[in-house]
Amino acid sequence: MTDTLDDPTASWGPATLGIRAGQHRTAEMEHSPAIFATSSFVFRNSAEAAAVFAGEQPGNIYGRFTNPTVQAFEDRLARMEGGDACVATASGMVAILSLVLATMKAGDHLLASSGLFGATISLFNNYVVKFGVAVDYVDPKHAELWEKAIRPNTKLLFVETPSNPLTEIADIAALAEIAHRHGAKLAVDNCFLTPVFQKPLELGADYVIHSATKYLDGQGRCLGGAIVGDAQSVGKDVFGFMRTAGPCMSPFNAWVFLKGMETLTVRMKAHEDNARRLATWLNEQVGVKHVYYPGLPGHPQHELAKKQSKGYGAIVSFEVDGGRQGAWKVIDATQLCSITANLGDTRTTITHPATTTHGRISAEARAAAGISEGLIRIAVGLEELDDIQADLRRGLG
Ligand SMILES: *Cc1c(COP(=O)(O)O)cnc(C)c1O
Repeated sequence: MTDTLDDPTASWGPATLGIRAGQHRTAEMEHSPAIFATSSFVFRNSAEAAAVFAGEQPGNIYGRFTNPTVQAFEDRLARMEGGDACVATASGMVAILSLVLATMKAGDHLLASSGLFGATISLFNNYVVKFGVAVDYVDPKHAELWEKAIRPNTKLLFVETPSNPLTEIADIAALAEIAHRHGAKLAVDNCFLTPVFQKPLELGADYVIHSATKYLDGQGRCLGGAIVGDAQSVGKDVFGFMRTAGPCMSPFNAWVFLKGMETLTVRMKAHEDNARRLATWLNEQVGVKHVYYPGLPGHPQHELAKKQSKGYGAIVSFEVDGGRQGAWKVIDATQLCSITANLGDTRTTITHPATTTHGRISAEARAAAGISEGLIRIAVGLEELDDIQADLRRGLG
């Protein structure tokens, strides 16, 4: 970690880090970060090439290993999350796969939250298990159930908080304590809150996973992901897998994310402001049975959310009267909201989890997970709140 005495950037807050951390100006003295669109790098002579290849001298070799634009993104995100190392990847999904392949082996056990992103569950159930890693799922709300489910060979606990789409909160500090007492590590997918609102490493987690595709980009343009953590398991082990297997982030995408991170703090606050007011408003509407948003004082885990994060994010789910028909009526009556499962965009998105993101799991499993036919999920964007409300009012009641 950086030494406060000789590093003036050590005291910078998140907004400043998002704007200024990680950039290394070239001799051209560019103000905004440059895109290094090059697959390889050259050496002044054979001796230099030999020294860089041998690791005796720092330097870029090949785009699968390092790229200055990608490295600027990694340094910036590591600083924002408070980690020692960051490895950028081509997507959020391959960030998760890279962590698992780099740190686990056949015979190990992975304990995952039952409230995970759908593709993460598919990745674990359809692919990770094929390589001899056993996977079990536990309710994210109850830390004591994780303690019961842990086995001697459990190596990794994997959680998302708040969860999608029901915004259930996992106690990060409690899960980290359980993991460490049993010789395991804790990974937190921090996609929904970003380091602006939640810093899992400070709460004791070992790894932070990001889908940069969401709020880090913020305008729905590029796919990307990242793993943040310590210098050994992320800086060496995950990096070693990444440079060998090659699921790396493109320099252009890294540049888009760098620009996105410059506005991340102001955007997250604006997203949340809209979300909190929309959730409060939805709570008062006729035809709305229940609103799921951790920022509402009535949310069963409001106090925990308040304790471990600086904000509640911008994912709001709500249940309407009339089951699937009622939900589809609200969604199909919108003219402004985008009907899409993506999130983390300036544009508000609306989706019906039971028939889209969670459509491939059985009706029983869906019911057990609390995802009813009348449930609607909104990722609140940055449009005027009045316009979003008017759009939803069309199909309500
Ligand atoms: C989107 C998402 C992912 C996957 O990221 P991609 O960039 O789409 O691969 C993982 N976790 C969460 C919580 C997500 O929302």
